[in-house]
Amino acid sequence: MTRQGKKLPLAAWIFLGLVVGIIGGLALMTLPDQQGVEIAKTYIQPIGTIFLNLLKFVVVPIVLFSIAAGVVSMKDISKVGSIGIKTIVYYMCTTAFAVVLALLLGMAADRMHLFPALSTAGLDYTPPAGQSLMDTFVAIFPSNAVQPLADAVMLQVIVISLLLGFGVLLAGEKGVLAAQVIESFNEVFLRIMDLIIRLSPVGVACLICPVIAENGPAILGQLALVLLVAYIGYVIHGLLVYSTTVSLLGGVSPMAFFSEMAPAMMMAFSSASSVGALPINMECAQRLGAKREVVSFVLPLGATINMDGTAIYQGVCAVFIASCYGVSLSPGDMVTIVLTATLASIGTAGVPGAGMVMLAMVLQSVGLPVEGIALVAGIDRVFDMGRTTVNITGDAACAVVVSKLEDRRIARRSR
Ligand code: ASP
Repeated sequence: MTRQGKKLPLAAWIFLGLVVGIIGGLALMTLPDQQGVEIAKTYIQPIGTIFLNLLKFVVVPIVLFSIAAGVVSMKDISKVGSIGIKTIVYYMCTTAFAVVLALLLGMAADRMHLFPALSTAGLDYTPPAGQSLMDTFVAIFPSNAVQPLADAVMLQVIVISLLLGFGVLLAGEKGVLAAQVIESFNEVFLRIMDLIIRLSPVGVACLICPVIAENGPAILGQLALVLLVAYIGYVIHGLLVYSTTVSLLGGVSPMAFFSEMAPAMMMAFSSASSVGALPINMECAQRLGAKREVVSFVLPLGATINMDGTAIYQGVCAVFIASCYGVSLSPGDMVTIVLTATLASIGTAGVPGAGMVMLAMVLQSVGLPVEGIALVAGIDRVFDMGRTTVNITGDAACAVVVSKLEDRRIARRSR
């Protein structure tokens, strides 16, 4: 599935799509009376939606078959455990670091009085019905084999595919046919995904254009500084954590890492969906040398549970909202935010806007008013583009690192 020969053209085309979309959005923004927004929403957004729909359509079978095929190809359950533990440890540590970084940046900005004093009077944000931590945990396990696939409940799909893979391994001889069927379907859906990915340049342009046309003026407004703080967090985290881990643990230079990741990052930026960017991300991670069995396990899992960018956003917004309400956060509050934001990012679905919903849980954990979300809701999409880019980059970094660590483990064992 690697397409070395076409590598540069695709990345360049996606970049071109991004630039065309941004320029188009800026041009439309200049039309009077929101006409540009109207045009972008009526004629351009639907094409982006078709592209996103196709990606969403392929993502459930991809996750189902690729994780199951990944487990089957590892041949023994202890290897799945070894990769699984490394993956979870990497994901948890980097996410916790992300929140700490976000809190530090948020506090620094607050001390420097960079956050605008927005009025909190009359805010009307109704938080969605809250779910307790235990409910969230219970909801991971499906009670039906088909419904989670139909509804694209990704954590449940992951559980189903893990169980499918384990079942095949445990069935031994009798599971061989099932293993071949899984492998064959995996291949088929990878081909379908390849076809859809070829539409990315157009898809990216049509997704970004309405966002720029609509949010352009807002970006320049009062919230620019909060956005800036979040984006500084995204960039520092990406450069510091991913560069360091891929070079020290994964044996890949940061330059090579980010240049190979460019197509997936651009896709994430314009679609604001980790799940939507998953297919391209899988290609990029394999080009970076991550083994297919690791990629097919680590990335679908990461698109669902690993959200460093979302954690940064939640940390920065928590400090910002506290500042608007004149609340000062204690060290205990900070620890609580680190814990809840790390957990909230696991529960965040890899779709646009999900991180904002989970922000309610973080605010509630330290007694901040949930209505504060209304302060940042208007430009959530702009936060989201950056946080999704960080989210998927973290997944790929993990795949590179885990793949290398596994190689070393196998080499040590065979010695
Ligand atoms: N849009 C993000 C993602 O897909 C999730 C979020 O809203 O934070 O990764």
